[in-house]
Amino acid sequence: MQLAPRIHRVGPDAIVNSYLVEESGEVTIIDAGAPGLWKLVPTELAAMGRSLEDVRAIVLTHGHTDHVGYAERARKERGWRVMVHEADEALAKGEVPNPAKQGTMRPGAMASFMWWALRHGLLRVPSLTEVATYGDGATLDVPGAPRVVLVPGHTPGSAALHVPTHDALFVGDAMATYAVTTGQRGPGIAPFCADRERALASLARLEPLDARLVLPGHGDPFTGGAAEAVRLAREAAAG
Ligand SMILES: [Zn+2]
Repeated sequence: MQLAPRIHRVGPDAIVNSYLVEESGEVTIIDAGAPGLWKLVPTELAAMGRSLEDVRAIVLTHGHTDHVGYAERARKERGWRVMVHEADEALAKGEVPNPAKQGTMRPGAMASFMWWALRHGLLRVPSLTEVATYGDGATLDVPGAPRVVLVPGHTPGSAALHVPTHDALFVGDAMATYAVTTGQRGPGIAPFCADRERALASLARLEPLDARLVLPGHGDPFTGGAAEAVRLAREAAAG
């Protein structure tokens, strides 16, 4: 589904997101969502006028399984480079336990998320056996040249990826616009946070970024800009 010029999302819904970003005929995938999304990637690339041959890399916003998704399969089958922040390398490789803490849950929302997870292979995600790492402040040498903004809290190596040429900020789970555990919509701190206070503090790093489009790991795009998304997320956190 096209979200903006040169930005598509894989799959019809926005429960667990995987994005395609095109620059000069080449594509970067940001987050690999769930294993079940893999079969939809060629169709979505075709909708952009591109193919699997045009993809240069998968960049992960963090090491959680619902972002690693189809990355290991794509890496093995296509030889694509997969990248994650160095502080989440071990998590992406399945070498350390998920640091997530359980928060508020509503049975209805959880049931529909679990049903989605079941249908999209999210309960058994292959860990990465090889992953390249990036650091805070780096401008990545992949299509779109995303700049890394480390926003620890959700996980130690959670990163937002700022793509100024597309007026876009991919925030991973630093913010969500749909909370899969409660069904709540609108910008907020995403569920399954390792350190919620730290995640809230990290929002200050996103606030000054010049990007109209805020693209979360879960939920629809927020089009009111980074500063407004941060304001709403703080408001929601204050209850
Ligand atoms: Zn996450």
